[in-house]
Parts: sequence; structure tokens; C-alpha cells
Amino acid sequence: MQLFNLKDHNEAVSFAQAVRQGIGHDQGLFFMDHIEPLAHVEELLKLSLVERSKLILRHLIGKEELPELESIVESAFTFRAPLVKADERSYCLELFHGPTLAFKDFGARFMARVLSAVNQEGRLTILTATSGDTGAAVADAFYGQSNIDVVILYPLGKISSLQEKLIATLGGNIRAVQVDDTFDACQDLVKQAFEDRPFVNKVGLNSANSINISRLLAQVCYYFEAVAQLPEEKRQAVVFSVPCGNFGNITAGLIAKSLGLKARFVVACNANDTVPRYLKSGKWEPHATIPTLSNAMDISRPNNWPRVEALFKMQGWDLSELSYGSLDDEATRAAMRELYAKEGYIAEPHAAIAWKVLSDSLREGETGIFLGTAHPAKFKDTVDHTLNLHLPLPDVLARKAQLPSKAELIDADYGTLKELMLG
Ligand SMILES: *Cc1c(COP(=O)(O)O)cnc(C)c1O
Repeated sequence: MQLFNLKDHNEAVSFAQAVRQGIGHDQGLFFMDHIEPLAHVEELLKLSLVERSKLILRHLIGKEELPELESIVESAFTFRAPLVKADERSYCLELFHGPTLAFKDFGARFMARVLSAVNQEGRLTILTATSGDTGAAVADAFYGQSNIDVVILYPLGKISSLQEKLIATLGGNIRAVQVDDTFDACQDLVKQAFEDRPFVNKVGLNSANSINISRLLAQVCYYFEAVAQLPEEKRQAVVFSVPCGNFGNITAGLIAKSLGLKARFVVACNANDTVPRYLKSGKWEPHATIPTLSNAMDISRPNNWPRVEALFKMQGWDLSELSYGSLDDEATRAAMRELYAKEGYIAEPHAAIAWKVLSDSLREGETGIFLGTAHPAKFKDTVDHTLNLHLPLPDVLARKAQLPSKAELIDADYGTLKELMLG
């Protein structure tokens, strides 16, 4: 597999290199310039998640690289992604049955294993910024890997206390660092670190956020899994609604489409609606990031957007084919209540936004699938309060909630971060 820096086509790397490096020079994202469609999608849909995913990923990565791929898929994808009927016309693809109860477990577990397979240099440091679930999934996926240190940055007071427990209670090779600023400021610190070449080389810096191509490739697989679980008569007009933050998840969906999965896509955002406004007006005008109930989507400069545009260009699609919608917090709560009252389905804020935007977009004869990106219990306060419930905490969260946080606190200052990481 060859990947190219989206800012400079002359920088071409193998899959293994792209995984190790994370990002190209000038902060250019690595991406393919061609996607060969899969030959027998119908046949693939008959296979199990693991067997199908091996074939899809082998097709994408190619025969020459990563001989360990098949065993990596087996050990990474150990939990289900059930498609659950939510209402007459739509289903939730529940991606939250992994160890940290979020869809990011798919990408993080795959990436941790790929990185460990392609890392010959010894010491590696993962530096990643999270607005919530990434950090938890990455921490869990890399915990205990002897040759890899992990530093996770997150905005102080802007992620749920349970999310924080999943990140900050592990210790060992996992360092949790709170930054007294926004998620965007955390992302900027990560970018600065990656521009600091001597530092990158010294600590073997690697990003594990959705910039890393391995995470995106892993996520391609569950779009096929969703359609495979649909009755055959419903597979012809499928619409995926994706709750978007950094736009990694929807990029994966669009890669699946490029591979031959028949579907239309809907961008679902919260009040941080840079992309919906862009799709409407053609103007890219990020506002300051606003904290919302769906905090994993509190991102106003989504860093995977250039990949979405590159895909549309590559495939000759028009951006007007992308449907979109956004909900503020009040509308999010209303959507949660509506889905619960009418259908008895409990959704946390991210999934509820995806469901509502989907409902508004579905046309006659289409079947909708919205992505359930987090377990409702990860947003227990909001869910309990909005739906007047007392959700039980799943065991894994109940145990974590008892443990003390080991997080450190810094200002959004690169010098401070560097000192901390070298110290
Ligand atoms: C990360 C996350 C999202 C957004 O996914 P992107 O790939 O960043 O667009 C949505 N919902 C939840 C719960 C998340 O953790």
C-alpha cells in the first residue's frame, strides 16, 4: 500500500511507515491516491466480522506488507458490533461493546498491534490529544506494552469524570496530562511536538489519534458489518449517519463506499458545526469551540476533513451528495427523549444526534443506520438527567470509578509539555 502526503504528493510512504510516522511534513495527512474496489462485496457480506475484516484489510494494505495482519485482526476484533433496531426505519450500529465501551476501541486496538508489529526501533512514545474516548481507548489498547510510552492530553474539566477515570487511573506506561485549555489547544500542542524534529527522533514520537491511517482502516470494517446484518431486501438503499468530531469515522465510511459498499452518508454534528456550515455556504469558517453534551464532537477544526475532500475528488463525487445536520444541546436532549419515549431506545448524546439528523434526512424506501459511538453509561449524568433514569454502570466502569486519578496538570504551553515528557 502506498500513501501520499496530502500536502505534497512527492512524500510517498508504505503502510508501515505511515503508521510509524503518523503524519507527514507540513502536517500533511497520509492518504491513498487510489482505492481499488472489492470484487465480491455480496460474498464478503456472508462472512463473519473477523474473516471479512481480514480480507478487506489485506485488500487495502496489499500482499507485501504486514504478514501478521490476519492474527492482528483476530486479537483486536474480539467484541461484537450488533445492529439494533431503533425505530421503524432505522437501526443503531452499536460500536460500544469493547473494553472502553466506545467505537474507538476498534481503531486503537488494531493500531496498537500494528505499531508493535512494525516497530523495530525500540523506544516509542505515543502522544495524543483526546476530547474523551480516544484517550480511554488508546490507554487501554497500549497499556502494558513494554517498548511503548503513552502520553495523553485532554482539556481540563471538559471530559466526563468516567472518561477521565478510564484514561488517568492506569498509570504504568500510560501518562495522563490535563491541559488547562480547549481540545483544540491540546491538538495544537500535539502538532507542535510533531514539528519539533529533534524531539520526534529523540522520543520516537507517534500519534495515535485519528490522524493515524491504521485506525481509519480498522474502522472501515464495521461499515460492512452493519450492512451484513441487514435483511437482504434492505441493503439496496442504506444511509449511514455518523456523529462527527474529527471526521475520522466518516472518512472510514467513505473508504468503505469507495470499496464498493452501497450507501449514502450523513454528517451529524453538534453546535460545533464548521462542516455543516461549509457544506451549506462553501465557506470554511471555524468558530471558537463550544462545550456541549456530546463532548467528543467538540471540535471546530476537524483534522480529517482534508481526507474527506481528497476522497470526493479521487472518486469524482460531489460534496453536495453529503447530507448534513447539526443539533444544539437542547435539541440533543429532545432527540434523546423522543427516541426513548417512542421506541424505548436509550441513546447517549452523540448517538442521539446521529439518529435525529438521520431521521430528518431519510427518504422514502431508505434504511437508516446511525452509529452508536459510546455506551450510554459513559454519559450517565446526561442520560439519567435527561431521561429521568438511573442507568446502572457496567462493571468495567463501576470498578474504574473507585480508583484515584493519576493525572498531571499543565498550561497549554509546548515548553512545559516537552519538559514533562523528557523528565
Ligand atoms: C470520537 C467520537 C466521535 C467522533 O468521531 P470522529 O472520528 O472524531 O469524527 C463521536 N462520538 C464519540 C462518542 C466519540 O468518542
